[in-house]
Amino acid sequence: MKVSQMFFQTLKEVPKEAQIESHRLLYRAGMIQKLASGVYNYLPLALRSIRKIEDIIREELNKRGCQEVLMPSVQPAELWQESGRWNYYGPELLRIKDRKGGDFCLGPTHEEVITDMVRKNLRSYKQLPYNLYQFQSKFRDEVRPRFGLMRGREFIMKDGYSFDISEEKSKENYWKMYEAYNAIFRRCGLRFKPVDAATGAIGGDMSHEFQVLADAGEDTILSCNCCDYAANLEKATSRYSEIERDTSNVPPANDIPTPEQRSVEEVAAFLGKSTKEIMKSMIYIVDNEPVLVVIRGDLEINEAKLQAFCHANAVELADDATLEEISGTEHGFIGPVGLKKEVRILADYSITTMDSLTAGANKSDFHRENIVMGRDFTPAAVADLRVTTAGEACPKCSGTLEECRGIEVGQVFFLGTKYSSKMHCEFIAENGESIPAVMGCYGIGVGRTMQAAIEQNHDEFGIIWPMAIAPYEAIVLPLQMNKPEVVEAAFKFYESLKALGIEAVIDDRDERAGFKFNDADLVGYPVQIIFGAKSLTNGSVEIKIRKTNQKVEVAIGEAAEFVANFKKQEMAVNA
Ligand code: ATP
Ligand code: MG
Repeated sequence: MKVSQMFFQTLKEVPKEAQIESHRLLYRAGMIQKLASGVYNYLPLALRSIRKIEDIIREELNKRGCQEVLMPSVQPAELWQESGRWNYYGPELLRIKDRKGGDFCLGPTHEEVITDMVRKNLRSYKQLPYNLYQFQSKFRDEVRPRFGLMRGREFIMKDGYSFDISEEKSKENYWKMYEAYNAIFRRCGLRFKPVDAATGAIGGDMSHEFQVLADAGEDTILSCNCCDYAANLEKATSRYSEIERDTSNVPPANDIPTPEQRSVEEVAAFLGKSTKEIMKSMIYIVDNEPVLVVIRGDLEINEAKLQAFCHANAVELADDATLEEISGTEHGFIGPVGLKKEVRILADYSITTMDSLTAGANKSDFHRENIVMGRDFTPAAVADLRVTTAGEACPKCSGTLEECRGIEVGQVFFLGTKYSSKMHCEFIAENGESIPAVMGCYGIGVGRTMQAAIEQNHDEFGIIWPMAIAPYEAIVLPLQMNKPEVVEAAFKFYESLKALGIEAVIDDRDERAGFKFNDADLVGYPVQIIFGAKSLTNGSVEIKIRKTNQKVEVAIGEAAEFVANFKKQEMAVNA
């Protein structure tokens, strides 16, 4: 490809919306254009990298027996009603109507469609396992689309789904995909970590995310400084030391006035107590049921853990009217004792570390002291419902948890029969019984993976592509376009690179050397081969390795081999 013909334009000024370096670089290197909020055109350079990532994924999946399919992005509402997700998926689901008034949505994920597709074919256990995947544009009407391709509304995803005869077989498939994902992200040249993850709206009870380590990441990861324990903050837990409570001397609970003191901090300060001694009481709507969650005042409730513990589809804080209906009072004065209406109470483990606590009295401007769990109220369950923080003890060993940021590029879920039972995706088992298939699902954000690679691999001059996913592997730079011998030698060399299977471009624009160097650094071609009049007279060219900024002088006759060897070496590193 001649750069003069390439559909791209490097930019000096980038739109203000680009807040992180990889997003700015996608603009500056002329790789994307914005069409609407969170919706982008992928220009040739971006698409070439994306196609390479897709090829790596395809190769790793096909080699493990997966088969590629393609499902529509427009999905009929009936399937979502069947799975039960039509009602709770919320505003992220873009719902549309056809001319007859029929309800459809733009697929944010494809569990329903694939389950329907498989049930139409599935008869006997002999057909299983199936492991099917596709590359497709998903649409999620994200509240805050940002960071370019990292959190778009329309984005390319590889989504895959497995169907097995048993939980045991399904878990084998899960770990096979886990291993495939490790290979894929390694081959893409990323520094990443698989971490324990919450399952959210997709459901299921076991999941891992693949997190690319970068400060710009939106996720918080806690990992052990000694062992391999690592988890998303949504899931992370830490070791508890059991404490023997002595509640025998706690006086009966009593109400005390706390006028206008609502927050844990205000109440603690007002009563001269520590925040630890206050009980935080929050009412949530878990699916449709109100639930009171209590936790020690110095800790935070983790809504993802609450959702997982309740096997719920959605969790949100109750509104003021519901608070009033249940407690008889308003936010800030709610507690587990003396509620107006009976609700399920869940207590975080931290409550068991205190002999007694002070909570809202369920009347305005009052709190209640000396509340003892088990004496004054009994929770339906005690569970880990809190936000774990760095510095806490590793749940697996004697190490300590550390915090870092990550970009979630992929996630694998063990789904069980969540969709197959509801949607009757069944088969006749060996014993003649009809049973639902056991499912797993596996996603990779392809555009996000590309951008994460840029986020991890750049310097002040531009992108530094890992060889395996570089849009082009090399650029030939003739520096004086007015010197026919330079142009001719450069073109000849460019042809010899292509003949060796190197994906190369030649910058044939009539521009200054500095301009060409800047663009080459910005776009991030792993290798630059520089043709100048001076070096040509010695029969040599200069080769610059973008990654190290090293320049070497190589005889023209050996230069193509040099580039081919460098490529081979680079590809081998993560193979
Ligand atoms: P997130 O927590 O970042 O919103 P998710 O957990 O909802 O993502 P999944 O349902 O697990 O996403 O989707 C599979 C993969 O698709 C994710 O691991 C991510 O790489 C990618 N992805 C999800 N949402 C987006 C988005 N809005 N833009 C780009 N890629 C996305
Ligand atoms: Mg995810």
